[in-house]
Order: sequence, then C-alpha cells, then structure tokens
Amino acid sequence: MRLSRYFLPVLKETPAEAQIVSHRYMLRAGMIKQASAGIYSWLPLGFKVLRKIEDIIHEEQARAGHIPMLMPTIQSADLWRESGRYDAYGAEMLRITDRHERDMLFTPTAEELITDIFRSNVSSYKDLPLTLYQIQWKFRDEIRPRFGVMRGREFYMKDGYNFDLTKEDALHAYNRHLVSYLRTYERMGLQAIPMRADSGPIGGDDTHEFLVLAETGESEVFYDSEITDLKFGSREIDFDDKAQCQAVLEEFTSRYARTDETHDEAVFHQVPEERRRTARGIEVGQIFYFGTKYSEAMGASVQTPDGQKVPVHMGSHGIGVSRLLGAIIEASHDDKGIIWPEGVTPFHCGIVNLKQGDAEADAACESLYASLTALGLEPLYDDRSERAGGKFATMDLIGLPWRITVGPRGLKNGVVELTSRRTGESEELSPEAALLKIA
Ligand code: ATP
Ligand code: MG
Ligand code: MG
Ligand code: MG
Repeated sequence: MRLSRYFLPVLKETPAEAQIVSHRYMLRAGMIKQASAGIYSWLPLGFKVLRKIEDIIHEEQARAGHIPMLMPTIQSADLWRESGRYDAYGAEMLRITDRHERDMLFTPTAEELITDIFRSNVSSYKDLPLTLYQIQWKFRDEIRPRFGVMRGREFYMKDGYNFDLTKEDALHAYNRHLVSYLRTYERMGLQAIPMRADSGPIGGDDTHEFLVLAETGESEVFYDSEITDLKFGSREIDFDDKAQCQAVLEEFTSRYARTDETHDEAVFHQVPEERRRTARGIEVGQIFYFGTKYSEAMGASVQTPDGQKVPVHMGSHGIGVSRLLGAIIEASHDDKGIIWPEGVTPFHCGIVNLKQGDAEADAACESLYASLTALGLEPLYDDRSERAGGKFATMDLIGLPWRITVGPRGLKNGVVELTSRRTGESEELSPEAALLKIA
C-alpha cells in the first residue's frame, strides 16, 4: 500500500475523551472513529488488524475441529422466552420492535439460536460430537461503555457452542477450547492466563476466563507468579486425544489463578508468599461448560445407542475479538505509539522515502516495495512529500515491526537504514540484506 493512496486519518492531538493508552493510540492512528457511545466505525487500519485477529481465530478453530457458520444479529424474542432469558437478561439487552409489533432483539450472545438450529436438525448421537462457532457482532447496552473498543456496546465476538452426548465428552470439548485458546492468544503475541471465574448470566458449573495482565484491566486478579512462566509454544496437539488435552488443562490451571469473583484468601495463602501476585487483568475470553441448562429448557435431545432420548451436554466459548485490539496495544506500546506483534501487524514493514521526487530514492523505494510484495509481505510505503520527522512519527505511532528508511545520502554508499520498532535499534545495510532480515 502507498500511503498517498491510503486512508489513514492520523490525529496530531491526543483526544481528550480517551483515558487509556490503547484508546488514545487507536484514535490517533486513525483505526477507529466513534459513531455514538460505545459504537465504532472501523477505519482501514483498524479493520486490517481486526481481520488479522479473525484469521488467526479461524485457523486455530479449524485445527481444533470446530466448524464456522454465521447467525443473524437481529433475533426474535420468542426463543429467548423459551429459555427464560428474555426477562432475565435485563437492561443490557437492546430490544427492538418491528412494524408488526413483534419483539426482536440485537443478539448479546447466541445460546438460544444455536440450540434451536441444533434441535431442528440433530436427533441422533451419531451426529455428535459437534462444535459450531461464529464470529459476529454483538450488542450489549453496557451501563458504562468506555475505553474505546475495550468496553463497547457493539462489539465483535467469536462465540462457539459444543454439543455432546455425555458430560465427559462435553468436558473434553471444554478442554479442547482451553488448549486452542492458549495457542490463539500466543499467536497474537499475548499472554492470556486462564483463571477460575464465575459463570454470571450464562450460567454453568465449569468456567475459566482468559486474562491479559495490564494496569488498565477492569478485573482484579490473584495468581501464583509461576503461572507466567508457562508457554504453550509450538507443541503439536491431537485435539481428539482426551488425555492430551486434559494434561494441558492441568498444566495451565493447577496453579492458583482467580479473578476477584472466585478469589479465596485462605487458598491463596497456601501459595508461598514470594509467589503471590495481585494485579489487574483484561478479560479477552471465557469458556463455559453448562451441561443441559439450555438443551432441557429448549428440548434439544438426541437418541442414545440404546434408544433412549437424552438432552445434550453443552458449553459456550467466547473470544472478545474487537476487545483484543485494545488488549494487545495495552500490552505492547511505548510513548511513541503502538508496537504490533508480528502475528497481527497491519503491514509488515514501513518504507520511508526521505526525499520524495529524487529519482534514485524513488527507484530504490519502488524496488524494495516490489521485492517485499514478491516475498508475500505487505509493505506500507510513505511516498508523500512530507518532512522526514512527520513520516517517522506516523510510522512510530502505527507501530509496524520494521521500518526501512531510504535517502539519497545512504544510497550513495549503497545502503538503507533498517529499524526495529520494538528495540528501536537501527543499522545501515544493503537493500538486499535488509530484505533478508525482514523475511
Ligand atoms: P465483561 O466481564 O468484560 O463484561 P463478559 O464476561 O460479560 O465481559 P462474555 O459473555 O464472557 O463477556 O463474552 C465473551 C467475551 O466478549 C469476553 O471475554 C470479552 O472479551 C468480550 N466482551 C464482553 N463484553 C464486551 C464489551 N462490552 N465490549 C467488548 N468486548 C466485550
Ligand atoms: Mg459483561
Ligand atoms: Mg466477565
Ligand atoms: Mg465473561
């Protein structure tokens, strides 16, 4: 992409309404624009990162054997009356009346709709196990939308639902989600710690939240510091192997790690004092096993091998896709701007032309642009006739992992400058050598 043809409305001033760094940088870098309280337009740069996050989620869900689909955002109230949640959900649910005076709503989550799809189409144990998921907009009329996309009213969520014959199978689905989420967040450059949580209005027995440690997090968390040494890494997992998934779950959940809702001082004090930590965290996902809560209320049952009819065991599993942009920035930035982890960066490399219009500099930039593209990378070429200082400030703000700076003086010696956004270190080297380092 050439910056002269892109749409990157960078703000010079720090917007007064933004209280936390991720919100400030997302506004300043022209990633989002508020449309009304807690509702945002996703401008091209923000949209690009949102798509990258979504791609990682789809890849990791496919690896775990889960099946993507899409459900509508506007739903009829009738299904929600069947489960009893139409009244129970309260003021967070945005209720809508259509021209025929029918009660509709904007989906805050989708247990009812997916259970209806299941009961209409599945009646035998032979079709199980089944895990369906979507990535779709949700609406919750949050009492205090704030911190930009962190607590929006409209937000983008991955929500998955498992259907299993037995509790044991459903707990395997739960474990599979835990394992695949560990991998998913790590690919985004995040450490998200599974913590024992409270099930809230979704209801249920087993649940973990995934928390990213950050001072601006809304949850208070308590954990054994050993947990931050755990890495999922590149280990190969057979997601059908129950024992293997169970072992990963035990590895990542056996140490003390709880949110304030489930925190227990007495149990916490069994952790050696020097390892006890209290911190703030951002909830970026949550997994639930809730058994037959919805399948019983809505009549979603299957025939067992010996001919009995039993309600299916279910769980639901969410990732805060749009919130993740804020969480990643909270975890990775400095005073100049965002520092994108490689896995989610909107462009791989910035090219800054110090003297636009200089034949040699222009040609060198074009050649780098073509080579990077040929390597399957996406460069962002700042080809505007701006001062170098302004170009550098924009590149630092939008936080691409690499910047190549090209100017007539360096080119006389056959070199360009390669700068790492994370370390700030620069080196002069030939354009070919710079390409090798980035690729
Ligand atoms: P919170 O405790 O932050 O209100 P929640 O527990 O109500 O979140 P879930 O029902 O668990 O949310 O939804 C799954 C995920 O969706 C959450 O883990 C979170 O990352 C994300 N999410 C929930 N509410 C919002 C929101 N208002 N804005 C952005 N993301 C959200
Ligand atoms: Mg909530
Ligand atoms: Mg919560
Ligand atoms: Mg939650």
